[in-house]
Amino acid sequence: MAHIKSLAPVNPKRRVDLKDYNPASQAQLPEEATVKTLIEQHTQEIGRFQELLYADGSKALLVILQGMDAAGKDGTVGKVFDHVNPMGMHVASFKSPSAVERDHDFLWRIHQAVPPLGCIGIFNRSHYEDVLVVRVHADQLLPPHLRHARHLWKRRYRRINDFERLLADNGIVILKFFLHISRQEQRRRFVERQKNPEKHWKLAASDFQERKFWPDYQHAYEQMLRHTSTPQAPWYIIPADHKWVRDYHVARIVHDTLAAMKPRPRPATDPRLITMRFT
Ligand code: ATP
Ligand code: MG
Repeated sequence: MAHIKSLAPVNPKRRVDLKDYNPASQAQLPEEATVKTLIEQHTQEIGRFQELLYADGSKALLVILQGMDAAGKDGTVGKVFDHVNPMGMHVASFKSPSAVERDHDFLWRIHQAVPPLGCIGIFNRSHYEDVLVVRVHADQLLPPHLRHARHLWKRRYRRINDFERLLADNGIVILKFFLHISRQEQRRRFVERQKNPEKHWKLAASDFQERKFWPDYQHAYEQMLRHTSTPQAPWYIIPADHKWVRDYHVARIVHDTLAAMKPRPRPATDPRLITMRFT
């Protein structure tokens, strides 16, 4: 709906202070039932746009999702891309790197997971883990030869920006979403998982430990958001305490971005194919 303002991307010229962003915000949205109808409309159109993207064949969309544990990355993928043909979607989840991955630069495994033209790619976590969890736990996660490297994080931001520009030059439109939840909401979701036997498998020992590092993560996120929000790959801070608010904003931005990409079916490889007679 045109009258609901879309969220603005992070402005790299200004410091990001996450305290200025309310994770429970419902600002400028109508009531939940109306928003849910809009989500359904947007997600259906996202499905249709993906078909056009495939028929066009000259562009791809890459959606990067980051957030604290239980921020709802999986839930967002399920909801926003519900109507996309699985053949047109590539989802990559990035876990702690394997021994082989660790013996390469941090973008090596990422580059291989970039979606082919015509598709929508989703990164559930991404190369940004290398300036987030790796920054918070640098003493354990950084390879020894990098522990004293000067300006390491700023250099990584530059490498990331260059990498994303390379992708953009190849026709890949990039959207990055930070699913911003509050510490209380994360606790609530963890406790809910403890109460539901079907969700016990989701709990990890690290869920308890990492909460102690909440302020360090927030700081790493603030730095990352500011230094890697670029015109070709903007960051959006999504209020994510309410799932319907989160889904609405992400669906809306993905929808509007696909519309602006104007995917058009490419013509026949040979114009004679259009008029040739079948025997
Ligand atoms: P959920 O939010 O449901 O817990 P998840 O994305 O956390 O899902 P997990 O299998 O629990 O999935 O965790 C993946 C873990 O891998 C995360 O803790 C993440 O920080 C870690 N990880 C991802 N990339 C890297 C990296 N480059 N270096 C170190 N750890 C990483
Ligand atoms: Mg986890």
